Amino acid sequence: MKLTKRIGLIKPSPTLAITMKANALKAQGKDIIGFGAGEPDFDTPNHIKQAAVEAIEAGFTKYTPVGGVDELKDAIIQKLKSDNGLAYGRPQVAVSCGAKHTLYNLAQVLFEEGDEVLIPSPYWVSYPDIVVLTGAKPVILKTKAADGFKVLPEQLAGAITARTRALVLNSPSNPSGVAYSKAELEAFADILKDRDMLVLSDDIYEKILYDDFPFYNIASVSEAMKDKAVVVNGVSKTYAMTGWRIGYAAGPETVIDALTKLQSQNTSNPTSIAQKASVAALSGDQGCVADMVREFKRRRDAIVRGLNAIPGITCMNPQGAFYVFPDVSALYGRSFQGKRIAGSSEFSAYLLDEAGVAVVPGAEFGHDEHLRLSYATSMANIEKGVERIKEAVVKLD
Ligand SMILES: *Cc1c(COP(=O)(O)O)cnc(C)c1O
Repeated sequence: MKLTKRIGLIKPSPTLAITMKANALKAQGKDIIGFGAGEPDFDTPNHIKQAAVEAIEAGFTKYTPVGGVDELKDAIIQKLKSDNGLAYGRPQVAVSCGAKHTLYNLAQVLFEEGDEVLIPSPYWVSYPDIVVLTGAKPVILKTKAADGFKVLPEQLAGAITARTRALVLNSPSNPSGVAYSKAELEAFADILKDRDMLVLSDDIYEKILYDDFPFYNIASVSEAMKDKAVVVNGVSKTYAMTGWRIGYAAGPETVIDALTKLQSQNTSNPTSIAQKASVAALSGDQGCVADMVREFKRRRDAIVRGLNAIPGITCMNPQGAFYVFPDVSALYGRSFQGKRIAGSSEFSAYLLDEAGVAVVPGAEFGHDEHLRLSYATSMANIEKGVERIKEAVVKLD
């Protein structure tokens, strides 16, 4: 069977693959602690589920407008106004089947062969492949742990060429948990405001921030950048709604029009029932979010403390999201039963086989010195998992 060259250029999402492998081992009866999952372990809050039940019972089960119903667009517009101080009209907003779908659609309408797209690393695994599928070239801006995994303004300025079409920003970041401050984003805005390029601002972890770290995106810190930015967000991470598949984009009308046209020829509207549930999520009581964030913070504190207590592992304290990205490279070169741990892939495989702990190799995010651990799991699992990693590290020759 002949497949396209295009599909041969990308790989399956490694984080989904690791979660699936860990689940398969669990199904065989193996005792596995999973730090792989990229989703909240909480249930979707009840009032949101209830809104979906009501939508079904009211017969709200047919096609809707391609880019989402006005009721949801209005809830998104209201959210962007009150949370981010950003004013958009309905023609500047489109709803898709998850923020990943939003980003995919955006890439398809914005990039093509000959274009370059700037992607800071460590990066979310899907950005490079989404760009590659358009024929454009991902240009990786590698950041250093010593700089807090942040792109420096001079690094950004130096990477822009006549071919650069966009910068992808993800703050707080998956996998590092790092978030940009207002001043840092203003410095980027100074560099970008006169350039003929866009910023795709992936704000999916906006609400998962700790220690009162204030959230900003580049559109909210610079009037000039608002017309050069597409804000991408969704309900998956904030409301524990990963399975409902609702994400959205807000930005220049020409971009939103093109995205909607593309969507009209592939998925059509996102699920009608999930749209109603998302209205309840965005417009309802936000207490459920605060409860989840409080619990995530307790877990972050525990996992950072636990990992830093293991000789050979150093772990930064992230400002947000629900991941830690420890440096384990001091352990590379050591071995277990004659098998050498050369990098993050071998180390992750060792932890899964010998300790029953599933983590994602940092190499998947562009940084082989690191591992990514999601702490969207119970405190008991975090304690047990960290203990197992410690025992596994002690066993290395
Ligand atoms: C989870 C995630 C997304 C996608 O979320 P959806 O479920 O598709 O809405 C987008 N960006 C990052 C960085 C993520 O971690």
